[in-house]
This record gives sequence, structure tokens and C-alpha cells, in this order.
Amino acid sequence: MHYKVVIVGGGSGGISVAARLLREARNLSGQILILDPAGKHYYQPLWTLVGGGAVNREASEREESSVIPEGAVWLQEAVQSFNPEENKVMTSSGKAILYDYLVVAAGIQIDWNKIKGLKESMGKDGVCSNYSYDYVNSTWENLRNFKGGNAIFTAPSTVVKCGGAPQKIMYLADDYFRKSKVRDKAKVMFVSGGTKIFGVEKYADSLNKVIERKEIETHFKHNLIEIRGTEKIAVFEQLDTKQHVEIPFDMIHVVPPMSSPDFIKSSALANAEGWVDVDKFTLQHNRFSNVFGIGDCASLPTSKTGAAIRKQAPVVVANLLSMMHKQPVVKEYNGYTSCPIVTGYGSLILAEFNYTNEPDETFPFDQGKERWSMYQMKKELLPLIYWNGMLKGLM
Ligand code: FAD
Repeated sequence: MHYKVVIVGGGSGGISVAARLLREARNLSGQILILDPAGKHYYQPLWTLVGGGAVNREASEREESSVIPEGAVWLQEAVQSFNPEENKVMTSSGKAILYDYLVVAAGIQIDWNKIKGLKESMGKDGVCSNYSYDYVNSTWENLRNFKGGNAIFTAPSTVVKCGGAPQKIMYLADDYFRKSKVRDKAKVMFVSGGTKIFGVEKYADSLNKVIERKEIETHFKHNLIEIRGTEKIAVFEQLDTKQHVEIPFDMIHVVPPMSSPDFIKSSALANAEGWVDVDKFTLQHNRFSNVFGIGDCASLPTSKTGAAIRKQAPVVVANLLSMMHKQPVVKEYNGYTSCPIVTGYGSLILAEFNYTNEPDETFPFDQGKERWSMYQMKKELLPLIYWNGMLKGLM
């Protein structure tokens, strides 16, 4: 089997690239193969609001077949290995697929099993997570059933997708606990393997004020390593002293550690940390020039979000087309990413920044302020932009 362009992963990045390529080069119709074993496609940014009970889980899910752009071919199989020297990928059923150009868009791997006892407790014993379609409803269940005590929200020391998501659900929970009149019986804690609340100073300043106002207790440099579900104990490792700290919980929202997918880590495409080793500006692979990486699996030193992909996809497409026309690869991505940090039902700080870690804002007002309008944009407008704009190669 041979295709001009093979795209590994039909998530946000893979579909955006395929749709845009076909829009800009109709002659590629029938020559683009998308490989993805998943039958469903998810708009994951909605899961924060699903966990908070503001949106139904089903609104985030569509059939994968419905997002495959016309002119692209979808093979519902996982890629098992890469052989970039021979321009070849192997699928899980043993098919060899040859390509002229390869785009790797396989997302990030959630390492649930790196926390002892987590899998066994997930969805019960007060343990929940927004980081999976299967478990996201358990977050809302926990919020509704919470009667007081310790509500813990964790973040790992690893890179995660959407760096703000571990705290967004905590702010919604705090708001909900106030509405349901249990907040005065609760201790809300953010226990994080990171060293601060947010990487960009402007937004960190705003968030620290939110935390103070909401009377949330923070513990940094604490990595969750074990859940003892039936005892309702969470065990953290203090990252400097390596001491184990046990904290009892009544509910705990867990964001597990994440890493590059194993099949990428073990491949010739990976850098030392396991990510697809691409140039941070052109998104072209640093060793195999006919390979590009996009999205969560790429080695880009910026926050991993769908918003970032919206700016990466045009770069990948322009550079791919340049290569096909034997032109130099010149289009550059500046590291733009965005994190709409929900701070309650009806309030949001819209963080936008780039490789300089300085704000790179869209609107002519101070986005470091909590705003109702920005919350509405996240809830109502961004899903429409995603399904009808980004996935259609229009924006
Ligand atoms: P994905 O969209 O995850 O797609 C990867 C695809 O690769 C999947 O379809 C998968 O099946 C496929 N795949 C995996 N392995 C293989 C294989 N071996 N072979 C072939 N295919 C494979 N982003 C924002 O911009 N704003 C937000 O507010 C926001 N909030 C978030 C909140 C939560 C709770 C979560 C979980 C994410 C959030 N994100 C947010 C992040 C955003 O969803 C991701 O950054 C984005 O989806 C990444 O796109 P991707 O294409 O890299 O990966």
C-alpha cells in the first residue's frame, strides 16, 4: 500500500492537517491516508465543563468517520512501528504502508498505571478524572455527592495536555460547593508536582488571587504516587525530600502523569525525551525531512493544547506543500498556545502566549481578568469553531 501522505492519528492535529491539505491541494484527493484505531473523535476541551456538570459528555463525541474529510482515506488501525529510512509504517495487523510524506499526530499517552492503585479505584471511592471520556462523568458525580471533608485536585510533575485543566475543575468544584452549601465544611486542596500555579507570570498573578479568594490550600512539588481507594488515602512524594506524604480524601480529582506514546518513544523519530523530534518553528523532523510532527506528540516547547494545533496545522500544510513543489520550507510557528482557564460557572481567564512565555492576546482588553464573556466563548463558540472551522481546514 502506498500513499503520498500518511497521517498517523485522526485527532485534532491529524484531521486539521488532512482537511487543510485537501482544501489547498484538491489534487491530493485519494492520496492521503489517515491511520487511527479509534472509532470516535473527541473535543476534549469540553471535558472540563462535563466534569463540572455544565455540559453533557455526549456533546464532546462524534463518530470518527464523520470527521474524516472528503478525499482522505481512513484505515481504522493503529500504527505499531515506524521505518523512516524506508518511508514505511507498520500497522498493528501487520500491514506495511509506504509514504512520500508522513505527519505524526498521535497525541499524548496518559500513564494511568504509573500511579499505584489508580486504575482499580477510578470512578469509585471518590476517585475521578476529567482526562478520559470513560471517567469524566465520575467527576460530576463526585461533585454532586460531596458532603464536605477533603477535596483534592492533583497535577503531575510531567508535561500534560492543557496545563490549566487540572486547576480549572477545582475552581468549578469550589463554585459548586458554595452553591450546594458544603464549602464551609470542605478543605479544597491543589496538590501538584509542579513548582507554581502557571508558567506565565501575568496569568499566575491572576490565578494566585483566585486561589486566595477561594481559600484553596496549595502544595507544590508533591507528586501523586498511590491511591488507597478503600481507605481513601492519597500518597504523594515530596519531590525534594522524597518523603511520602499521606493525605486522606473525601474526593480526589486525579490528573495522571503523561508521556509520548510508547510506539513513538521506541522509534527512530523520537528525541531523547521520546517526543517526535521536530524543528520548533517549521515542525519538520530534525533528521527525516519528509516527516512532520504536530500536536501533543511533537517535541514543541510550548503548552500542549488544541488551540496550539490551530496555529500549527497551517504551518505543517504550507511546509508540506512547499516540499511537494520543491520549494524551501519557510513557514514558521511561533509557539502560540492558549488556555481558557475556567475560574467558576460564568468566569474565565483567557491565557494566550507563545515561545517567549509572554502574553500573545487576541482581544483588546485585559485577558488576565476573569470574564463572563470569555466563559461563554469557551462553552458556546469554541466547540463550533472546532467542529466547523478547525476540523474542516478553515481556521
Ligand atoms: P488527540 O486529539 O488526542 O488525537 C490523537 C489521536 O491519535 C487519537 O485519535 C488516537 O486514537 C490516535 N492514536 C493514538 N495512537 C495511535 C496509533 N498507534 N496509531 C494511530 N493513531 C493513534 N486544549 C485547548 O486548546 N483548550 C482547552 O481548554 C483544553 N482543555 C482540555 C481539557 C482536558 C480535560 C483535556 C483532556 C484536554 C484539553 N485540551 C485543551 C487539550 C487538547 O484536547 C489536546 O491538546 C488536543 O486534542 C491534542 O490533539 P492531538 O491531535 O495531538 O491528539
